[in-house]
Amino acid sequence: MAETDEDGGSTDHRTRPLPFRYGGEVRPGEKRHLRYEVGETYLGDPVEVPVTIVNGDRPGPRVFVAAAVHGDELNGVKVAQEVARRYEPADLAGTLVVVHVANVPAFQAQQRYIPIYDQDLNRAFPGRSGSNTAGRMANELWEAFLSKCDYGLDLHTSTRNRTTMFHVRAETSNPAVERLARAFGANLVLAGAGEEGSLRRAATAAGIPTLTVEMGKAHRFQPVLVEKATRGVEGVLTECELLPGEAPETKWLRVVPGDAGDKAWIRADTGGLVDMHWGPYPLVREGETICTVSDHFGREERVVKAPFTGLLVGVLENPVALPGHPLCHLVRVDEETSEEIEREISTGEFDGYRANGTVWRTGEEQE
Ligand SMILES: [Zn+2]
Repeated sequence: MAETDEDGGSTDHRTRPLPFRYGGEVRPGEKRHLRYEVGETYLGDPVEVPVTIVNGDRPGPRVFVAAAVHGDELNGVKVAQEVARRYEPADLAGTLVVVHVANVPAFQAQQRYIPIYDQDLNRAFPGRSGSNTAGRMANELWEAFLSKCDYGLDLHTSTRNRTTMFHVRAETSNPAVERLARAFGANLVLAGAGEEGSLRRAATAAGIPTLTVEMGKAHRFQPVLVEKATRGVEGVLTECELLPGEAPETKWLRVVPGDAGDKAWIRADTGGLVDMHWGPYPLVREGETICTVSDHFGREERVVKAPFTGLLVGVLENPVALPGHPLCHLVRVDEETSEEIEREISTGEFDGYRANGTVWRTGEEQE
């Protein structure tokens, strides 16, 4: 929050051109790619986060786009690259702050958490200077960049061995957050404040309305999703008036409250081999078979059916299960929404959810 930052206080940057200060400064009309030190390796070498700052010709709000808070979640890294490439100071009334890889140690190890002690950077925000490794890294990013913004986007994917439908998580009870969620243009919004220490929760609580974007799977670039999210960023920049025009309308929107019985993790009760039967699209009807879990001899088979009509927001991809292992995350949709979804399916709205990210798995067509 920019209430009393060194720019001369309050939200002055919204009304007159001011430099963005992070230790160095990026003047109005300037675009800079930089590396910012957030820690040190065992060798004592700097750990540096790549950041792009585009300070617009004209004043306006500051928006951050953060990627790879979880180090193996790469779709967002590609979105960050695209967003940083796409906008010049002449395009913007305001400042765009792109944190390309928030969690550099985890990114280098291509894993979710900060290596060795497996600390979750997304439970460490806003961090503290005297804290553990994650807390210090979070604090460095928070103090230098994130806290100086007015709005934020944090880009994620599913964790490894799973995939997730393109959706947004947002504290929609906050009208400014809800506005961003609509402008981003995902059809599905899971409502709620988010976990303690997550960037989204910490930023929103600090007066910086922030969305988490979830899309696809870890360890991949999925072009369809990257393109959708890049458009989503543009929608948010438009809504925040960094860009001219109006954010596009979403054709259908399902906001799922955090606490109601509108979503369920469906878990395996037996260990074994998982065959997914749903599809080719993620809309399942009540009673429809989602998957089976079978023993290795093919004699025992547990059929897992949809307890209600809904969207499969997250699904297992690594096809083995233990008792208690999540097989899928199902979100309830009503009849009207399911009809909207069926219409949208035909226009490619759900492309990129499975398979290689560009096509659906349709049985025989899949190698
Ligand atoms: Zn994540």
